[in-house]
Amino acid sequence: MTSSPRSKNAPLPGPVGFEAHDHAGCIQTALAAAEAHCAEHGLRFTPVRRKALEILLQEHRALGAYDMLDRLRDAGFGSQPPVAYRALEFLVDNGFAHKIERLNAFVACAHPGASHSPAFMICRDCDSVAETHSAPARGAIGDAARASGFQIERTVVEALGLCPACAGKDAHS
Ligand SMILES: [Zn+2]
Ligand SMILES: [Zn+2]
Ligand SMILES: [Zn+2]
Repeated sequence: MTSSPRSKNAPLPGPVGFEAHDHAGCIQTALAAAEAHCAEHGLRFTPVRRKALEILLQEHRALGAYDMLDRLRDAGFGSQPPVAYRALEFLVDNGFAHKIERLNAFVACAHPGASHSPAFMICRDCDSVAETHSAPARGAIGDAARASGFQIERTVVEALGLCPACAGKDAHS
């Protein structure tokens, strides 16, 4: 009998972002996963792409393209908007980051490399974002889709509310 800590089919871990966790490890793991994915698929993980992912990973918070541009410029990567847009596009296309439509901003993926339908919990106070996963074929929308013969390929779930920290702040003020 072999013990595999987490096989490919194991359920994804729970939401990342709101709970206390080893954040340095979180950044290292995501960068290493991105590096491995690029090596495996012959993609170029250029310095600007790597830096953009690192910037997104700094905080579990969504970042707009212009904020990204500012930070890339501060890091010495030029100040032309396409620099930021192209890097973000690469990260999204390859599953290292997701676009949060509601905020028109980007967040690093909490489960890079795993194919998943992300669901986001967005704090309306501090813009922090926790990613969990949805099961698009299940639940009410899955039932409705089956009933109408619709095949769901992708769902976007963006829940708006208060994160534990901000909810606590409200309760104490
Ligand atoms: Zn983290
Ligand atoms: Zn994700
Ligand atoms: Zn908050």
